[in-house]
Amino acid sequence: MMKFCLKDKVFEKISSVLDMEGTEGYLIGGFVRDFLLGRDNPQKDIDIVVKGSGIKIAGKVARSLGKGIKVSVYRNFGTAMFRYDDYNIEFVGARKESYNRDSRKPVVEDGTLEDDQKRRDFTINALAIGLNSSNWGRLIDPFGGLEDLKNRIIRTPLDPDRTFDDDPLRMMRAIRFATQLDFTIEKQTFESIIRNRERIKIVSAERITGEINKIMMAEKPSTGFKLLDKSGLLSIIFPELANLKGVEMIEGRGHKDNFYHSLEVLDNISRHSDNLWLRWAALLHDIAKPVTKKYSEKTGWSFHNHEFIGAKMVPAIFRRMKLPLNENMKYVQKLIDLHLRPVDLSKENVTDSAIRRLLYEAGNDIDDLMMLCEADITSKNREKRIRHLANFRYVRQKLAEIEEKDAIRNFQPPISGDEIIATFGIKPGREVGIIKNFIKDAILDGIIPNDFNAAKELMLKKGRELGLQPVNDTREVSDQE
Ligand code: ATP
Ligand code: MG
Repeated sequence: MMKFCLKDKVFEKISSVLDMEGTEGYLIGGFVRDFLLGRDNPQKDIDIVVKGSGIKIAGKVARSLGKGIKVSVYRNFGTAMFRYDDYNIEFVGARKESYNRDSRKPVVEDGTLEDDQKRRDFTINALAIGLNSSNWGRLIDPFGGLEDLKNRIIRTPLDPDRTFDDDPLRMMRAIRFATQLDFTIEKQTFESIIRNRERIKIVSAERITGEINKIMMAEKPSTGFKLLDKSGLLSIIFPELANLKGVEMIEGRGHKDNFYHSLEVLDNISRHSDNLWLRWAALLHDIAKPVTKKYSEKTGWSFHNHEFIGAKMVPAIFRRMKLPLNENMKYVQKLIDLHLRPVDLSKENVTDSAIRRLLYEAGNDIDDLMMLCEADITSKNREKRIRHLANFRYVRQKLAEIEEKDAIRNFQPPISGDEIIATFGIKPGREVGIIKNFIKDAILDGIIPNDFNAAKELMLKKGRELGLQPVNDTREVSDQE
């Protein structure tokens, strides 16, 4: 019989409340799995299943732990949770669930621990540890979850067709856990995912996206996307990504498979950054290649403008996936849009002006952009890889030089639209934009320095060209700063 040493005082408190109330309680789910794997559970979520009312026990435990613990109750789910130290502790009453195929709402009744374990998604998530004094630390494992943990296998506790039919999100969860834990999905279980793949359509976009984001944040996200592809789920939930697959040949000339390339870029970036949105940019950087693909006898395959069209495709993808349409999305779009620019800058005779322009457009995201470009090098040819990397080292150096000289990152043109309007006594409109751009271009091109007096002079000159007169030209230029 396997027994565990639960060191934390909080488990003893829970134990004595359970004994006092004369009811059973068990640790279950992710906490038990990660505890047995010796894996750090970063969120420190603890799930406890009790016989009877989880809400009632949560209240009693919270009270016994001290004053001022706020218990959040979710009556609809029959759960209650509170924070204690670093932990989020959630209590739920043991349940027996049966599903009606046409409705996503399960019929729920009170059940035994075993009923509750059966409704769990995988054997490794159905492991329970006793918390009463009579079974303190004892592992309760009716489905061979421990064996599966040892063999690193994802398997459903019941017939997989039933488990996946009851809640098709579990198909995504299987792939997500396989990716996070680097486990294999057992053969029958995987075949059942293939059979049931169409059922994913009844699951909400939010839940699906939650799993995709967890796959994205894994150490090696490509594992998950390859499994999604193999199972047939990918083309249902993420058709744009599935479209990247394949190599077309004309006259014996092919292009690279952009699906596997994108996954490689994603894995590369994931070795350097935990930024979810940078990872999204890596996954989507070539998303417009299928729609921009052309073949010409002279030059072979091209994907003209794919960076620009790709950035434009992002909002529709984010909207469908219920990802937030905010600054993060704009950042993803910006990186996709700019992802070829550093390559251009690595060519010979690149002007300071071109460097300044990229710094101006990328702003503070320039370092992320350079990281993305380096991750984008997936050539199998060693010499080529070394050459590309050296090129980017050169670009980084040029960027640093210009940055030091001109402080162009996050630069705001020294003359605002309001200033132009006031100077010439005009209404907001076309001329203001023309003058503003003219000044900005002159600074980025190095024609004038990035300062107010030079910009003001240029404003007056451009204004005269447009037939504008300053309304009050007596003010001293130097007073304006
Ligand atoms: P993590 O929190 O690290 O992602 P977890 O295993 O704790 O992993 P949760 O989503 O927090 O996953 O769920 C807690 C437990 O609840 C799971 O271990 C599993 O036993 C059960 N569970 C969660 N979602 C489902 C589901 N859709 N179907 C069946 N059981 C589920
Ligand atoms: Mg959890």
